Amino acid sequence: MRNPVQEYLEQIVAQGGDAGGEVAPYIPELAAADPDRFALCLATVDGQVYEVGESEHRYSIQSMSKPFTYALGLHDQGIEAVARKVDVEPSGEAFNEISVSPDTGRPKNPMINAGAITASSLVAGDSGDERFARALEWYSRFAGRELELDPSIYTSELETAHRNRAIAHMLREFGILDGDPEEVLDQYIRQCSVAVDTRDLALMAATLANGGVQPRTGEQVLEPALVEHVLSVMTTCGMYDAAGDWVTAVGIPAKSGVSGGIIGVLPGQVGIAVFSPRLDPHGNSARGVALLERMSTDMELHLMHVS
Ligand code: GLN
Repeated sequence: MRNPVQEYLEQIVAQGGDAGGEVAPYIPELAAADPDRFALCLATVDGQVYEVGESEHRYSIQSMSKPFTYALGLHDQGIEAVARKVDVEPSGEAFNEISVSPDTGRPKNPMINAGAITASSLVAGDSGDERFARALEWYSRFAGRELELDPSIYTSELETAHRNRAIAHMLREFGILDGDPEEVLDQYIRQCSVAVDTRDLALMAATLANGGVQPRTGEQVLEPALVEHVLSVMTTCGMYDAAGDWVTAVGIPAKSGVSGGIIGVLPGQVGIAVFSPRLDPHGNSARGVALLERMSTDMELHLMHVS
């Protein structure tokens, strides 16, 4: 007999189809991506993975790295030290907005670029190289396999990173970054260029769902108190200026990336990852959002659901 979860996932994918949108235009390597690629994976907290589509096709993690880097900053420095540099308030603004609090200079949250660049600087290490190596190893522990950088994405993004460069220098001016902002920018772009597939992302999400324990390796990667903190920030800030729509319609902590992935976490139960490169005007995968809305309704995933 076929597994009912597998059957359900195949059914909603077949019924879903194209949801419109455009691939990210501002990073040449992403603009060249095949817009029709697709994958959906669901990983349970006991390590079972269900897959539909091209689940082993690799692409860059982009902003889906942000919750994991923030988690590493919290792990290395503690909640209070991190809070002095980056706040936890939803910004209601686009992911790449040049935005900080007027009083403290702190970025509003670690899910938008300004806050994420700050979080990269809070990873332990004496140089960008050391901090990136530590972050890469950290993501790999969540995925349960050794991840690598995609050099072509890195080069492409570095050459066109005018806006993120401006943000990094602004953060240096406000005393939020110390040292050379170019070094942190380079580290941040490398972090965004780590290659993952949709299975990896589902397992990374499932590690958060499982209280910080990787479901397959059994390793406690992140402390449960920090899992709670990271999931809270993903819930309120993970989908940028669509965060309110997301919380009402889907109702689970999530994070999107401009490569077209979205991860979602249902605490205690599953990690979900979906990949479809066409983005809506907020920079979130259009087909991914539509599918997660459907799954939330059908499977009653919404955290505030009352039956
Ligand atoms: N690397 C991208 C950027 O900084 C990440 C943005 C995203 O995935 N939303 O612009």
